[in-house]
Parts: sequence; structure tokens; C-alpha cells
Amino acid sequence: MHLDDGNGFDLTEQGTRKGLAVYVVRSPSEVPGIARLGPDALEVEREQFAAILRSRSGQLKGALTDQTLISGIGNAYSDEILHAARLSPFKGADKLKDDELVRLFDAMRATLTDALDRQRGQKAATMKGEKRSGLMVHARTGLPCPVCGDTVREVSFADTSLQYCPTCQTGGKPLADRRMSKLLR
Ligand SMILES: [Zn+2]
Repeated sequence: MHLDDGNGFDLTEQGTRKGLAVYVVRSPSEVPGIARLGPDALEVEREQFAAILRSRSGQLKGALTDQTLISGIGNAYSDEILHAARLSPFKGADKLKDDELVRLFDAMRATLTDALDRQRGQKAATMKGEKRSGLMVHARTGLPCPVCGDTVREVSFADTSLQYCPTCQTGGKPLADRRMSKLLR
């Protein structure tokens, strides 16, 4: 997207379902989607983070990617954050113990800070490759986990999927996968 005054921006959309909206407004808060956003992931304090997750019943994966709770974490980095925190994506967000909350908070900050450092100054064309090079589990189904060597597994949904390491995150147990159970039925 290039504007007449020389400004502009690049866009990437990597989901299987493509969606994009561009707004021209005087203040970002005039955009309906932005007005609903939760606090930025890198600006959330630890106590606030704990309170946000405890307010939410449902699975961690969904809580981390819910932009109205905390904004800025997408499908890829939620997989990476959960792996770094050694937590199952299906664990209840409101069921975390204090030490698990601390691990998750620290993993979120470390993962996002590292990702920002990698992407700073990158153009959209090279960003995908740069992003991919730092990933441990996301988009790595069937490959060895860099931490423990177990095989990275996947759970698929209608239009997205998540990846995780059973040894690091789920006590070695594979999570139920809709697509797999359909095959087995
Ligand atoms: Zn592992």
C-alpha cells in the first residue's frame, strides 16, 4: 500500500482464510475492531495478565489469541509462547497455578520481544522467512522439538491448526484431534 505522500505499509496474511480491512481515520480508536482491543501484550503487567486470564474460562490457546483480552498475539506466537511456558494449549485459562502464570507471562514477553527484534527493519517479503526461522513448534508438525527431540504434533480445526510438543507441554500425551478422530471413526 503506497500513499501519495510517500508513506505506506506492507501487509501479510498467512491464514487459509484470508481477511483484510483498511480504515482511514483520524484516531485509531475510531476503528471498531481497535476500540474493542485489549491491552498490548508487551504493555501488560504481571498482575494484570493474571487477572485477565483468571477472568476467562476456556482454553489457554483461545484466551491468548483473543484480541479483546490481550492484543498482539496470533496463532503462531501463541503456539510458541505455550511451548516456551511448557503448558498445554487446552489447559483452562482460569485454572493456572501461580507458578504457571509466571512462566506464561515470562514466556510471552520473551517470545514477543525476540520476534520483534527479528522483524525490525524486515520487509514483508522477508518477514515470513525470518519469522519461521525462530519457531520451535508452530508450522513444524512432524519435525523434532528443538528442546526435547519429541515429534511436534498438530491439532486441526475448521480453518486453522495449532502445533505443540507432547513431551514439553502435555506430559507426553497427544491431544485429541478432530481430523484424526474422524479418520478413526
Ligand atoms: Zn519438546
